Amino acid sequence: MAGKHGNIVKGNKIKALKSKYLLFIISIILIIAAQVGIQYWFGQETGLSLLLSALAVLIIILEFVFIFLPSLRRLTSANRKLVRLRKSLEDSERQYRELVEGAADIIYELNSEGQFSYVNELMLKMSGYTREEMIGRFYLELIHPDDRAYAASFYRNKLKAGEETSYLEFRMIGRNGQTTWIGQNVRYFYEQSWVTHVRVVARDITEGRLAQLALKQLKEEAERTTRAKSQFLSMMSHEIRTPMNAIIGLTNLLGDTRLTPEQKHHVQLLKFSGENLLTIINDILDFSKIEAQKIALEYIDFDLRELFDKTIEIQRQRADEKSITLKYHIDPQLPQAFKGDPVRIIQIITNLVSNAIKFTHEGSVTVNLVQLATAGETVTLQIDVTDTGIGIPSDKLETIFESFSQAEEATARKYGGTGLGLAITRKLVDLMGGVISVKSTEGNGSTFTCVLTLERGEVNVQETEQPPEVLAIPAGIHVLVAEDNQVNQLMVTSFLKKWDVKYTVVENGVAALKAIQEQRFNIVLMDLQMPEMSGYEVTEKIRGMDEPYYTNIPIIALTASAMTEVRAQVLAAGMNDFLSKPFHPDDLKRIVVKYARF
Ligand code: ADP
Repeated sequence: MAGKHGNIVKGNKIKALKSKYLLFIISIILIIAAQVGIQYWFGQETGLSLLLSALAVLIIILEFVFIFLPSLRRLTSANRKLVRLRKSLEDSERQYRELVEGAADIIYELNSEGQFSYVNELMLKMSGYTREEMIGRFYLELIHPDDRAYAASFYRNKLKAGEETSYLEFRMIGRNGQTTWIGQNVRYFYEQSWVTHVRVVARDITEGRLAQLALKQLKEEAERTTRAKSQFLSMMSHEIRTPMNAIIGLTNLLGDTRLTPEQKHHVQLLKFSGENLLTIINDILDFSKIEAQKIALEYIDFDLRELFDKTIEIQRQRADEKSITLKYHIDPQLPQAFKGDPVRIIQIITNLVSNAIKFTHEGSVTVNLVQLATAGETVTLQIDVTDTGIGIPSDKLETIFESFSQAEEATARKYGGTGLGLAITRKLVDLMGGVISVKSTEGNGSTFTCVLTLERGEVNVQETEQPPEVLAIPAGIHVLVAEDNQVNQLMVTSFLKKWDVKYTVVENGVAALKAIQEQRFNIVLMDLQMPEMSGYEVTEKIRGMDEPYYTNIPIIALTASAMTEVRAQVLAAGMNDFLSKPFHPDDLKRIVVKYARF
């Protein structure tokens, strides 16, 4: 509206000016015509002609004063304005040029062909080219050969998509082959759909890139080291486990022979130390597996009450030995069945309760299990393990969860342990999506709190273990022992002999396969790592045979690994159950009884 109004006003002014000039010209013409007419008719000068001349002069003066002078003034002022404008334009152009030339950024322009049409000083300095060498050069020539194809396709795609701006990082290669990492912002100018030119502002990012690269290398190096460490620990502990199994197994056998009271005591100490050592090895193995992210949690149904009852009962013996009261309370509203990894939950509770007993000299250890909340199919529960023991100094409360960390230097000497238990516990709780924390006052005991959210599950009553009174081995059964390690053979066979069970021993997978086909066995105890053919392979071959004998014969894995993933593999290969080495004689007996009826 305002614009339209303005235009009308401007149009009127022009019209008024035009009519003034017209009036002036007409008046002059009229006066001249009158003069000529008077002279023509009267032949000489008359008063009238003088009057007309005077009138003409007056009109000219008036016109000069009212028309020419203002116009002249306006013209001069417009001219002055123009001069000022030109000066300020020149100033801003100079400023702009100085800014662009002296900028801390690289600035350049490319024409529609991708050739340099403008470059600033910094670009010349960094590339090492002169302005003459640069103008007309193709921008791709300045991109490092390794980045060229990528950059070309990047910009092609941007142009195809009609993008207005883009950002890309690449290596620029200078006149003398020097490499600079640059990050460049490009603005594209189009006419219709054709790009006319592009304007680029870029920055040297070499330092940041090199730092990034160094950081990446450091990280990779650290990861490699951690992996190597984990592999080493895992291999070492596996290697140590094998002879340890023999030591503990043979100690069990030795304990069953006729011994003097002193020898019996020594054997008990031997067994205790052996089992202790095995716990430490298992901790290291577990920890390195968790660190190498090689641990997979199981997701199966389990009975939480039964699991707690059993775990606490196992610990009660140790509490009794130290005359510590072990109290235990479970929230009655908690559901019975959950889904998750029962073995790992046992490990968490065992770690916390055994630490509480270990670091308490008198008083009690209390385990409390309460339901905090339920939401749909999930239940959030809190496990508190409180003791009246030595407590933890406040500055050590956070570090005790770190690996190989103990509250005091004297802890290992006084109480034993490696400082790995809580690190493993926290990692397991993390893996389950839970939280673990501790509150403690030095000298006044500690409370470890673990909050877990678990899914409700179902428990099959038939799956619960058979009562101990049925532990009688049926007469006349025949067991195949497929095991290459002689100590392990000795351990298994000496117990079988003791229970009057007939057995056959084979030392490798091929012999096991042959034996199963040649004779009828009631149970096969199968080592997993055997020469010639592994226990897995033998089982798969047997299960693949037609007769019901081959599909039904109970095959029990003898495994040196207590890892849950091995358990899953064993079952997937078609075996019925597994026995971890070193096994307790009772466990072997339970297995034999359970599967003997085949
Ligand atoms: P370990 O028991 O093998 O030394 P842990 O990782 O289980 O290793 O525990 C780390 C340290 O935390 C222990 O050495 C001990 O100093 C401290 N700690 C753990 N539990 C308790 C507790 N209940 N009372 C006092 N100190 C504890």
